[in-house]
Amino acid sequence: MKPERVLTSRAGTSDKPMISRRDVEALMERDVQPDSPVLSVYLNTDQSDAANIQRAFAVVFRNMLREVDGPDDKTKQEQLKNDAKTVLRFLDDYREPRRSLVVFCDSSQDFFWVRDLSVNVRNTLRWRDTPYVRPLLELMDEHERYGVVLTDRAHARLFTIFLGEIEEYTEAFVDSDVTHIKTSGTDHLRSQMNIQRKADLHARWHLKEVAQTMSRLAGNLEFDRLILAGTVEATSELQRLLPKALRARVVGKVALPVEANISHVLEETLKIEREVEQRRESDLVEQLITAAHKKQNAVVGLEHTLLALQEWRVWQLVYSEGLNLRGSQCTNCEALTASDEPCPYCSHAVRAVNDLIQLAAERVFDLEGKVEQVRGPAGARLKEVGSIGAVLHF
Ligand SMILES: [Zn+2]
Repeated sequence: MKPERVLTSRAGTSDKPMISRRDVEALMERDVQPDSPVLSVYLNTDQSDAANIQRAFAVVFRNMLREVDGPDDKTKQEQLKNDAKTVLRFLDDYREPRRSLVVFCDSSQDFFWVRDLSVNVRNTLRWRDTPYVRPLLELMDEHERYGVVLTDRAHARLFTIFLGEIEEYTEAFVDSDVTHIKTSGTDHLRSQMNIQRKADLHARWHLKEVAQTMSRLAGNLEFDRLILAGTVEATSELQRLLPKALRARVVGKVALPVEANISHVLEETLKIEREVEQRRESDLVEQLITAAHKKQNAVVGLEHTLLALQEWRVWQLVYSEGLNLRGSQCTNCEALTASDEPCPYCSHAVRAVNDLIQLAAERVFDLEGKVEQVRGPAGARLKEVGSIGAVLHF
């Protein structure tokens, strides 16, 4: 469902629309243009990464371009050059980078698609018949959608957070808002206590409405996890009132004023998301290491992982953030190896590759597998056993 159809959504931290699955599907439905490949670029532009200051991502792009197997065909060479020029022109003018950029470009068809994302990507460049959307789909699959209900006794606001971006659904609770309690009226006998009791009743009624609205919207908004924000009193009461299925998705409570700034809501949500994510990654790495030691459908270390990949056994590739490895690829059978010796499988010569992990990830995608980059403590733990491993099919 598109939020605007039912609810008015207001983008939070930027004026650009949040990327949707529909956007990506449209790319996939695009007809293949015969003899007119698409340049696909994933570029990390994260300014907190020292490597990216001074707009070094443009340099990264040029370097990746050099690694593309140049087409023999003259016309195609020209096409690739033109696509690259278009992307470079865009990069030159690109200001206020977020965490990453995704570009698909086919100049000869006047096709140029770009989104900047608030999450990191692995630098990747491909030139082939169709846009290379798999990493984008993976990103959308891996990231969970968070819902935040921010409430006090009288008001409620609803947000969704996805891929590091926030949207507010401004009309979600319009009907349930109790904007003011009458404090004076025709009944002069009404005591202060009565007013208080009435206010409490209104507050309860309001939170009940919020809980009901939430269960109605939950299916449409498809959030995986829910955060209750607001006053302690309101969030505790709301948690009690939520239907079981929704309550099970609550991962945290945050004390926030109901009029909190949208970027503040985002910041608090991302903190919780990082904690949840860290726990999940740590569990994954522990399970991987334990299973590998018991030889139960798992391996750790580069050599074992590459071998499993070659044997088509990898279901999930796991590696530590920051892992960058050079390696080799067989010129005949395309096997990936860590050394520059002739191919261990077919004895043909190998060529050096700069980003072994990227190529390994791509192969896992081809096998319909998953790729997981783990950070923080989970990344450090995996480092102890070689920074890489895999959960296997068999
Ligand atoms: Zn080979």
